[in-house]
Amino acid sequence: MIDLRSDTVTRPTDEMRSAARNAPVGDDVYGEDPTVNKLEARAAELLGTQAALYVPSGTMGNQIAALTHTEYGQEVVLEATSHIYGHEVGGLAATAGLQVRPLDGGADGLFSPSALADAIIEPSLHRAGTGLVCLENTHNRAGGTAHSPAAMAARCDIAHDAGIPVHLDGARLFNAAVALDVPPAALAEPVDSVMCCVSKGLGAPVGSLVAGDEEFVETARRYRKRLGGGMRQAGIIAAPGLIALDSWERLAEDHERAVRLATALDELPGVTVDAPDTNLVRVDVTDAVVDGETFLSQLADRDVLGGAYGGDVIRLCTHRDLTDADVDAAIAVATEILTD
Ligand SMILES: *Cc1c(COP(=O)(O)O)cnc(C)c1O
Repeated sequence: MIDLRSDTVTRPTDEMRSAARNAPVGDDVYGEDPTVNKLEARAAELLGTQAALYVPSGTMGNQIAALTHTEYGQEVVLEATSHIYGHEVGGLAATAGLQVRPLDGGADGLFSPSALADAIIEPSLHRAGTGLVCLENTHNRAGGTAHSPAAMAARCDIAHDAGIPVHLDGARLFNAAVALDVPPAALAEPVDSVMCCVSKGLGAPVGSLVAGDEEFVETARRYRKRLGGGMRQAGIIAAPGLIALDSWERLAEDHERAVRLATALDELPGVTVDAPDTNLVRVDVTDAVVDGETFLSQLADRDVLGGAYGGDVIRLCTHRDLTDADVDAAIAVATEILTD
């Protein structure tokens, strides 16, 4: 099976498994797990923040950040197809008591600074006011687009001028760093908090980090406990995370394979594929011989798995558990299906 659904399907390497087995552990709710402490320190160092907190998932990290930055009833300005808005089961409303003001981010998934300025609401007798702005980098639904530190800073300046914090959903922040050839810290620098996943392309089995200044992380730690994310001998899962964090530069290989896949599929009749920035390939088969659903099921019949962005737009994701031969085989199978 060639699994191109997501980079979350990556399995821990032998090195990660033996690191898990040998990890020194303690009770992390008491702050006594040396491996978790090391992972948090290493993440903070890479992201250029004062501190970081290990959390079970990216979703929990984003929700904790929203809870930490805001007051009940406030508004969050975010992109209309962002993960935080569309794929976290309504958590902003259900868990944090927030209302959302979604903005159109266009093809890149990044709203303009002027649209943001217009969306910010001052608190008044009638209005709760804006409590948080969220960005996403890379942007998942836009096809893994990478936004430069300058583009992010332009949005952050508007928010900060209004006294509003910015949280970055950086589930795939390291992919953005590789694509833009900048240190990860350059992408975290303009924002007030950042979440990144070690469980996706970096290949660790479990977990994400949410990072910011010491005061932010101290409050975030209390919300993690409230949401049931306080873990005990979590060094067992944090140890592979440390190896994952040290291997981010290899994501370049996944990006090269994504370009190869995109270039080949774009040549097929009725198929449109934009050159990917990172490891997510958006394949639009609207004008092809089969529709999106048929394409996916015929791929699956031939042992190639893909995902749907919705309608006739398919998502194919490259990751470390694939070989060049797998990518070639996937191209051959897709070519067979999409050529009459
Ligand atoms: C995967 C993802 C998340 C959530 O991570 P989980 O660990 O699956 O909860 C958040 N944001 C983006 C952009 C993602 O792609």
